[in-house]
Amino acid sequence: MKYNDIKIILISIFILIIIFFVGIFSVNKIRNINSDNQIAQVSNLQEDDPKIIPIDKNIQPEKILNKEKIVEKKVKNKVVPTACPIPEKEDEEEYEDMSLLNIGQEVGLPNPRYIPEDLEELDEGSSTKKGVCLVEIAKNSFLSMIDDAEEDGYSIKASSAFRTYETQKILFNNAVNSGKADALISLAKPGYSEHQLGTTVDVTSSSIDYASASGDFYKTPESDWLKENAYLYGFIQSYPLGKESITGYKSEPWHYRYLGIEKAKEIKDSGLTITEFLK
Ligand SMILES: [Zn+2]
Repeated sequence: MKYNDIKIILISIFILIIIFFVGIFSVNKIRNINSDNQIAQVSNLQEDDPKIIPIDKNIQPEKILNKEKIVEKKVKNKVVPTACPIPEKEDEEEYEDMSLLNIGQEVGLPNPRYIPEDLEELDEGSSTKKGVCLVEIAKNSFLSMIDDAEEDGYSIKASSAFRTYETQKILFNNAVNSGKADALISLAKPGYSEHQLGTTVDVTSSSIDYASASGDFYKTPESDWLKENAYLYGFIQSYPLGKESITGYKSEPWHYRYLGIEKAKEIKDSGLTITEFLK
């Protein structure tokens, strides 16, 4: 083999190696551009579209492929606030007391971002997690109620209480996006939830291992105790079984609203739902 032939072969090998690396670099570049476009598309979606869940712009491209996972993480981040929110000054002046508002599928809060002014956090003994808040009077009544239940041998705790507009929005979007047929009668739209009043609590008990919003709660002795006694402490079950067409919501045996001892007794005696009574 001549010296020139060897030179040509070596140069050819060198050129092939360069072409190979340039090829790999280009493919990677195209992949990154596609991922960036996916993020941009998700980020540009309108937040107020109820079918769209806002997604963190800092998420990694590969996580786009697993939308469900991101949503769940976001929900977990939002649903558990560390302390009770406080209202803006102007809200306090305009909307002092919403405790007897006939809030429901058709009636929302006059100020959708309403936050009551005296939210207080429940402690570990009375709630299943941090950041469960009720307005002061409802909290005190709730504590008396579960103390008395304890004396009768029943352990009841709150699993959820006040929710901000933003938290409700995430829960509602999540329910709608899950594709469940009953999403709209299982969760209130943001600005339409009794939970935003700060007087409503979801309860759970030792019999179901303190599971939250469990379909099994209605079978428990704690549920029976509450049905019998909650009104004595000002609490009424908002969405009873068999009243779905009136309340607009699926039965929620764990969901109680505080209306004051006097009103609760009137409602209990009337046999009406809160929705009918407040009309
Ligand atoms: Zn509830």
